[in-house]
Amino acid sequence: MTARPAAAGRAVGSDGWPVPRVGILALQGDVREHDRALRDAGAEPLAVRRVEDLHGLDGLVLPGGESTTMGRLLGVFDLLDPLRRLVQEGLPVYGSCAGMILLADEVRGGPSDQPRLGGLDITVRRNAFGRQVDSFETDLAFAGVGDVHAVFIRAPWVEAAGSDVRVLARVPDSARQAAGRVVAVRQGAVLATSFHPELTGDSRIHALFVDMIKEGAG
Ligand code: GLN
Repeated sequence: MTARPAAAGRAVGSDGWPVPRVGILALQGDVREHDRALRDAGAEPLAVRRVEDLHGLDGLVLPGGESTTMGRLLGVFDLLDPLRRLVQEGLPVYGSCAGMILLADEVRGGPSDQPRLGGLDITVRRNAFGRQVDSFETDLAFAGVGDVHAVFIRAPWVEAAGSDVRVLARVPDSARQAAGRVVAVRQGAVLATSFHPELTGDSRIHALFVDMIKEGAG
C-alpha cells in the first residue's frame, strides 16, 4: 500500500495515511469495546446516533448486541434508509454478531420482519449454536489474519452465501460442535463476523477492516 497525502484537516497516521474516521452505531450493544479496538487499529472512532453523525465517515461498525432491538431503534431514529443507502454506495461496513445479522439479506431463527439494513448476500441463522452452548470460545484460522481467538455469544452462523461472498473463517474441526460452520465473510466492502473480536483485546480484525477502508480510498 502506498501512502497518499492527507486531506486538509485530517490527522495522519504513522503509515502516512489520513486516520480513517469510523462510525460505530451507538444505539445499543458493545460500542465501547469496538471504540477501543478501532483506536488500537489506528482509526478514529465516532459514535453514530443520528443521521447527522453519518457525515464524513470513511467506514462504519455495527456492534454486537441484540439485532431486533438495534433494528427497531434504527427505525425510531430514522437511520434505516440512510444506512441502507451508504451500504449500497459502498461505504466499508463491519458487523460483529448482531451487526452481521443486521447486514444479512436473509435471516432465519427470528422474526422474518425484523428491521435490517441488508446488503450482504448471506442467510444467517440467529442463536444458531443452540441454547445449551449459547456462549463458547475457540481458536480458528482467519484468512489473511492468522489464528484468532473467537468469542461467540448467542451467535449466528452463515447458512448460505452468494457467489460474491468470500468465506474468511469457519468453526474448526476441533470444536465440539458446529465444525465447519461459516462464521466470517467478506463481500466487497462489507465484512462480518459471528464472533466478537472486540472482546479479546486483539485488534487484527479491526486492522483488516481499516485496511479495507484504505484500499477503497487509495
Ligand atoms: N443473538 C443476538 C441477536 O440475535 C446476537 C448476539 C450478539 O451480538 N452477541 O441479535
